[in-house]
Amino acid sequence: RKSVVRITTGSQALDELLGGGIETLCITEAFGEFRSGKTQLAHTLCVSTQLPLHMHGGNGKVAYIGTEGTFRPERIVPIAERFGMDANAVLDNIIYARAYTYEHQYNLLLGLVAKMAEEPFRLLIVDSVIALFRVDFSGRGELAERQQKLAQMLSRLTKIAEEFNVAVYITNQVIADPGGGMFITDPKKPAGGHVLAHAATIRLMLRKGKGEQRICKIFDAPNLPEGEAVFQITTGGLMD
Ligand code: ATP
Ligand code: MG
Repeated sequence: RKSVVRITTGSQALDELLGGGIETLCITEAFGEFRSGKTQLAHTLCVSTQLPLHMHGGNGKVAYIGTEGTFRPERIVPIAERFGMDANAVLDNIIYARAYTYEHQYNLLLGLVAKMAEEPFRLLIVDSVIALFRVDFSGRGELAERQQKLAQMLSRLTKIAEEFNVAVYITNQVIADPGGGMFITDPKKPAGGHVLAHAATIRLMLRKGKGEQRICKIFDAPNLPEGEAVFQITTGGLMD
């Protein structure tokens, strides 16, 4: 039996909200308006996952699938330094691939399975998990097919999490409020419908506070304690 590993987010407050950090063996989703910190959390996890277990890391490698070109190796450097790690060594342990279509995204996952069988990975990031689906199935009448393909992708992610004891961290977008204008999004409405709601074990709702302050709430989990964590986005990654 594999035992769950909890990986620090860099913020003690956020770790406490999560019961110790983001967990292996399941999917953690973050959604929220633009600049709410979804990608910055991904970058922090790229580093903290490589920390030894006694420092609340996962002692493992990282795979990062990006769909929006938001992975920034140069962001990794100060975050590694903040944790007292060698930046080049940390970068060597992150494999990054950009996906250009939802099919490409799925095929990249299949390729990763082979790699994970050989090397000890502890984190898989997909930022964002849904963007390509929204582009590739943008037509009216394509929603059912989109949801079916999305379910397939998420089921693959769940299998990877369980087979390799990996934490899967996915980012999601918020959708337009049907009552609002075209460019008005509702920061409390994650995209992906029931399919995504069922696949994600933990759903984090992020929002902006003052300056670089961000607030995280656990979304739609009646069995988890209510509450919010406040953290900062800094050059060294997420902090209290
Ligand atoms: P989107 O929906 O656009 O992808 P996001 O939720 O992924 O948004 P992030 O990219 O994680 O948002 O957050 C961007 C914010 O992070 C910036 O607006 C800035 O406030 C902060 N940030 C980014 N880099 C740094 C840095 N080096 N130092 C401090 N803060 C930073
Ligand atoms: Mg982002």
